[in-house]
Amino acid sequence: QPKIGVLALQGDVREHVAALAGAGADARPVRRPAELDAVDGLVIPGGESTTISKLADIFEMREPIDKRIAGGMPVYGSCAGLIMLATEVLDGRPDQRGFAGIDMTVRRNAFGRQVDSFEAPVAIAGVEGDPFHAVFIRAPWVERVGAGVEVLGRVTEGPAADRIVAVRQGNLVATSFHPELTGDLRLHRYFVELVRAA
Ligand code: GLN
Repeated sequence: QPKIGVLALQGDVREHVAALAGAGADARPVRRPAELDAVDGLVIPGGESTTISKLADIFEMREPIDKRIAGGMPVYGSCAGLIMLATEVLDGRPDQRGFAGIDMTVRRNAFGRQVDSFEAPVAIAGVEGDPFHAVFIRAPWVERVGAGVEVLGRVTEGPAADRIVAVRQGNLVATSFHPELTGDLRLHRYFVELVRAA
């Protein structure tokens, strides 16, 4: 069983731990560098990227995570986690900083400030079966991807049609939506397989 941590500084940590366990991982919260050393992969949960950024510094997790990413550790970020994996953030707070991540530009709270949450079907490349019932909560979307980034999914209908909401670069995967909230374990299984293969 691959050991997978969920970065437990802020956000929906419990839901990701449960989804990872259901997908066959030995899952646990990770808050300290020594706990990070003990895992083969990491999930950065949904929550508030400005807070996660601040707490990553306070808990002295920033450098250890950057180093593990540089060393090839697989990471999956959902929503705030996607923001934390972006090299460039629009509408962010000036002091928020992400990890050494995916070559992409994301926009925070992109789906509109009036519409706090939004649901739409999203098909994910490499994941079989029906499109995900994607739940977006004050979610970001991706406005630019670098040449090394694979687009895994886009919104297909409504005012946000065509917006990129799932990407992968090497061992880093990110989605704007929250599969951990809908009981659909396919993305967590996809990530567990990625960790197993790495
Ligand atoms: N708006 C949040 C942020 O900027 C993300 C919301 C979420 O993770 N559900 O981090």
